[in-house]
Order: sequence, then C-alpha cells, then structure tokens
Amino acid sequence: LWQDVPLAPPDSIFKLTAAYKVDPYPKKVNLGVGAYRDDDSKPWVLPVVKKATAKLLNDDTLDHEYLPILGLPEYTVAAAKLILGPESPALKEERAVSVQTISGTGANHLGALFLARFYKFNGPARIYLSNPTWANHRAIFRNVGIEPAEYPYYDPKTIGLDFDGFIGSLKDAPSRSAFLLHACAHNPTGVDPTPEQWDAIADVMLEKQHYAFFDCAYQGFASGDLDKDAWAVRRFVDRGVALLVCQSFAKNAGLYGERVGALHVVSGDKSTAERVRSQLSVLQRSEISNPPAHGARLVSLILNDPTLFAEWKQDIQTMSGRIIAMRKELYRLLTEEYKTPGNWDHILNQIGMFSFTGLNPEQAKAMVERAHVYMTGNGRISMAGLNSHNVSYFAESLDKVVRG
Ligand code: PMP
Repeated sequence: LWQDVPLAPPDSIFKLTAAYKVDPYPKKVNLGVGAYRDDDSKPWVLPVVKKATAKLLNDDTLDHEYLPILGLPEYTVAAAKLILGPESPALKEERAVSVQTISGTGANHLGALFLARFYKFNGPARIYLSNPTWANHRAIFRNVGIEPAEYPYYDPKTIGLDFDGFIGSLKDAPSRSAFLLHACAHNPTGVDPTPEQWDAIADVMLEKQHYAFFDCAYQGFASGDLDKDAWAVRRFVDRGVALLVCQSFAKNAGLYGERVGALHVVSGDKSTAERVRSQLSVLQRSEISNPPAHGARLVSLILNDPTLFAEWKQDIQTMSGRIIAMRKELYRLLTEEYKTPGNWDHILNQIGMFSFTGLNPEQAKAMVERAHVYMTGNGRISMAGLNSHNVSYFAESLDKVVRG
C-alpha cells in the first residue's frame, strides 16, 4: 500500500527557514518568513495579548466546552465590525454571515468550499488569482475542485501594479467570474491599487457581475490604521459588489499559532443570508465540527473592551511603525550611502510586511549563497526580518549583488 505515493517537495518558505537555522554564519539574516520580529529578530507577544491572556487565566467562569459550530458569537460579531466597519450597511441590514475559522487559511478554504458547492460559475468552476499571489491560494482552490486562473497584477518593469493588464483581465473574463483580491498589503509584492484604481476595478466587477473573494490577512499592518486597510472591502460593500472576506488575526494580533480567523459572506438581503448561514454551518460541521476557543476568546476580549482595543491599536502602530522605519532606512542606505544602481522608490512605496526587491532569481540565489541572506527566489523579502542591527549588512549585500 502507498508505494505509488509520490514524494512531494517541501514547502519553500519552511525549507528556507530550516536552512537558515543550521547556517552557523554570525551575520545571517532570515527574510523568508512572513511573521513579525522585533528589533532583536525575536517573535513579539503583543502587550495587549499578554493582558488579555492574564484576564482569561483569572476568569473562573470559563470551561473547555465546545463552541457553537459557527464560533464564539461575541468574537464573530466584533470581527465583522472590524473589517466591514461598525456602520456597514451589510451589518445594519443583517445580510452578512460570519463564521469563525482556522485563521485566514481556514477562511480561504471554507470560502472556496462554499463557492465550489453553491456559486453558479459561468462555465467550469474557476477562480482568478493575481500573478503572483500567496502560494497557498492555488492549492486551497484546487483542493475543492476550482481551477485557478491568473490575472496580471505585478509589472516587473515598473516594480508596480500592472493596472491595465488587471482591468483587461476583468473585462475579458466570462461574466460572473470569481476574482481573488488581496484587501491590503498584497502578498508577495507589497503593491496595492490606489483608491481610484480600486474604484475602477469595482466598476468593471459590477458591470460584469464578477464575484470578489477578498483575502484580508494584514488589516492594520499595511498602514498602521485598521480602518484605512479595510477601505477597499468597505467600498466594495457600499457599491454593491457581491463579495466575501477572509480575515486573519495571525499577523495583526501576533496570534499565528492560535489560528484565529473568520469568513464573512455578504449577501443581498437578510433571508438569503439566513440560507447562506445554514449551509456554512453544515460545511463547517463536517470539516471541523466547531472552531477552537482560546484565540477567539483573546481577540473577543481585545475587540470588545475599549481600553484593550485602544492598546491593541498602539501595538499595531509599534509593528507597522517599525516596518515602515526599516523601509525608510533601507531606502536611505541604498540611495545615499551605497548609491546602488537602479531606482529603489518601490522600497518606500510598497505596503505591508513584504517587499518585492526587483532582484532576479540569480541575484536572489546569490544573496542566499554569498551573503547568507535567506530570501525567496522571486526576490521577495519580509521587511519584518530587517532591524537596526542587520539592515546595513543587508543593504551592503544587496549592493554587491546588484553590481554583480
Ligand atoms: N492570505 C494571505 C495573503 C497570507 O499572506 C496569509 C499568511 N501568510 C494567509 C492568508 C493566512 O494566514 P493564516 O492562516 O496564518 O491566518
């Protein structure tokens, strides 16, 4: 039995981290992993999370019973307000359904499964993914029998958005196609549409009756402002684009391993939402029965307590502020200190945890092999891996590789 099972390749990011760990070079730098690190390259437990954890530990009313199938209600309600906005028409009209999921990955999976079961595709089931996108998107849709197609997104020539290609693809796709959109801080490029470009995207989506499958893994991380990073989602809801949103608290609350996420499906009216809820409940039951409690309790405390909520916003500022400071310092080093050939404006303009440096695969390989700077072959770096101790070494190494 199982003799015919082929050997799968290891996950490229996890492979990179493993290689970094065994490298004895003292100046080695890990820019592969998409997780926040403090200025000493250490994982950071948010002070607000420490406080909320202490509260939970002292709460004698809590037990380890199952949560409801759709999750902890005070968590899902607050999470919906956070992404859709407290004044969202979708919430006021009770036409949004929120499900607690196994972080953002689980939200993507449940959303994909829901589409596979109930979305009436015009032709064979297909989802349009940005080129490039988070590598897991492809696998998640394939798992439920939806074939990923691509839309142009990143233009290597400008190291920015291929807006015309994107719009062209929206126009050329059969009507009622599903498009996966990164709500903010696009992974892996760090390139986001401007508000005007989002509006133009919404125009075509409405015209062609496309479905917006939003993935929002970095709310607050992009700009430091939770509302600003939810702008595109809220705008699309206001404009009546049919959509769902996948939400994750892995990055913005530093709760990676706790797997706290949600799927929000916005319908046209309340009775449709009720039917959607009933089916999501059936799907969730067969997949995980009910979601885990601890992380949702933590986030629920933070979102529902005004003092903790204010402290969380501060913590988000600490994280996004450090990342933005690193962008500025790297830009300064490349343009002023090393005078590295090329234009480096994108280091400043790109948003969120990741930056596409513009390095080609050979240059990225040279960074790993010659400088012990661990980064993916597509030239992506996690800005969170840079800090005041290693940014100079990184800039110097980049400069050497660019000069060949
Ligand atoms: N979507 C995108 C675009 C991501 O970058 C990530 C995290 N790398 C996720 C979803 C899901 O992450 P998690 O399951 O840890 O919430």
